[in-house]
Amino acid sequence: MKAIRIAIDGPASSGKSTVAKIIAKNLGYTYLDTGAMYRSATYIALKNNYSEQDVNLILEQLAKNPISFKKAEDGSQLVFLGEEDVTLAIRQNDVTNNVSWVSAIADIRQELVEQQRRIAQAGAIIMDGRDIGTVVLPDAELKIFLVASVEERAERRYKENIEKGIETDLELLKQEIEARDFKDSNRKVSPLKAADDAIIFDTTGVDIAGVVAFIQEKVEKMIDN
Ligand code: C5P
Repeated sequence: MKAIRIAIDGPASSGKSTVAKIIAKNLGYTYLDTGAMYRSATYIALKNNYSEQDVNLILEQLAKNPISFKKAEDGSQLVFLGEEDVTLAIRQNDVTNNVSWVSAIADIRQELVEQQRRIAQAGAIIMDGRDIGTVVLPDAELKIFLVASVEERAERRYKENIEKGIETDLELLKQEIEARDFKDSNRKVSPLKAADDAIIFDTTGVDIAGVVAFIQEKVEKMIDN
C-alpha cells in the first residue's frame, strides 16, 4: 500500500484537526498540528512581552525550547516547549487572539515551515493548517480545504471551549473567528487560501463522521492504486 501526504487547510474551527486526528489514527499516519506550532511561538511572545520587533528573541527562545509532540496516556497529543507542557496554555484566549500577528512574521514562518517539512519527510503524514497545500507541501498527493459558515464554526469552538473549561461568549467568539480569518487571509506571507488543486469541502451541516468518510474515501482510492 502506498503512503501519501495529506494536507488539510481551512479557516479557524473548520474541523481540520478533529478530522485529521481521526484519519491519522485510522490509517496509522503521523498527525501534525501546525497551528499548535504557531500557538507555541505566540505563547513565547506573550510570556516574555515580546512584540513584532522581537522576532530574533522569539526565534532564540524557540531554539532553546524546541516544540515537540508527545502522546498522553489517553492517546491524545501533548505539546511541549522544551520541558514545559503547553498543551492547555496554547488554547487559551490570549494566545488565540494574538496568534495572527505572530504567524504573519516571515522569519517565524520560515523556521516553522522548515520544521514541518522535516517532520513530513518520512511520508505517511496528515498535516493541518492554513498553508500546507500551498507552501509547506505543495506536492502533497491529497489536498483538502475545509470551509463552514462562521455561525457553525463559532458554535463548534464554543462547545469545545466549554468542554475544556475555557470561559467563552458565543457572539464574541464569532467576532474573534471572523477577525482571525480576515488577518490570516490577508497577510502578505503565506495567506490562508486553497491550493489550485485542493478539493474544497463545505462542512456546514456535515458531522465529523461525514467529513472523515469524505476524505478517507479519497485517500483509500489513492493508496489502493
Ligand atoms: O489551527 P489553529 O486555529 O490552531 O491555528 C492558529 C493560528 O495559527 C491560525 O489562526 C493562523 O494564524 C496560524 N497558522 C498559520 N499557518 C498554519 C497553521 C496555523 O498561519 N499552517
